Amino acid sequence: MTISFKQFFDDISCTYTYLVADLDTKEAIIIDPVLEDVDNYLAFINANQYNLLHVLETHVHADHITGAAVLQEHTGAKTAVSELCGALSADQQVNDGDIFQFGKQTIRTIATPGHTHGSLSYLWQDRLFTGDALLIGGCGRTDFQAGDAATLYNSITQKIFTLPDETLIYPGHDYNGKFVSSVAQEKKTNPRLAGKTQAEFVDIMENLNLPNPKQMDIAVPANKLCGRAAT
Ligand code: FE
Repeated sequence: MTISFKQFFDDISCTYTYLVADLDTKEAIIIDPVLEDVDNYLAFINANQYNLLHVLETHVHADHITGAAVLQEHTGAKTAVSELCGALSADQQVNDGDIFQFGKQTIRTIATPGHTHGSLSYLWQDRLFTGDALLIGGCGRTDFQAGDAATLYNSITQKIFTLPDETLIYPGHDYNGKFVSSVAQEKKTNPRLAGKTQAEFVDIMENLNLPNPKQMDIAVPANKLCGRAAT
């Protein structure tokens, strides 16, 4: 295969960042970079002589600041955020069905709202990057940033779970050392979703009683500027 796929992990926010490159053209995209780890991505990009074309965000994050703006400054890559997120400084306002191209590869946007109203997943070949819409054995919370549990249930069951069973799920976070799942595995074993009705899912989500993320008051406004305010 003439492609490269790399999964980075930020151990402070437990965020996964993904870099995919077409090795024939060296064109690459990155999904959900973390500000503190930009030097690490740049070292990898430079060592492989990649041409970074797009920085894709799955949503405006509340738990960490994006490295999108800094990557853009260093590489000229275009930043892309959902049109619904209010990130007006992004180079591209993304909508459901939008396609990004790098070399011969295409990555397709699938709107999966619910964790936030602007949450997006990205499908590349047999891999789906779900952000916080679907996590391994869990899902993103739905109690702020216009989140909505019923909407998230519909996104997961009607959009993600209708993809082929063997589709690999690469989440935006994992807190338990897991790297990858699949549509079949999540359908069968995700405790919030397997065999659950929408009403049961909503009930679970409304009773999580989670504290707000520590960085939330800083991260959300900064991320609407693609992380620029933090630099
Ligand atoms: Fe999130």
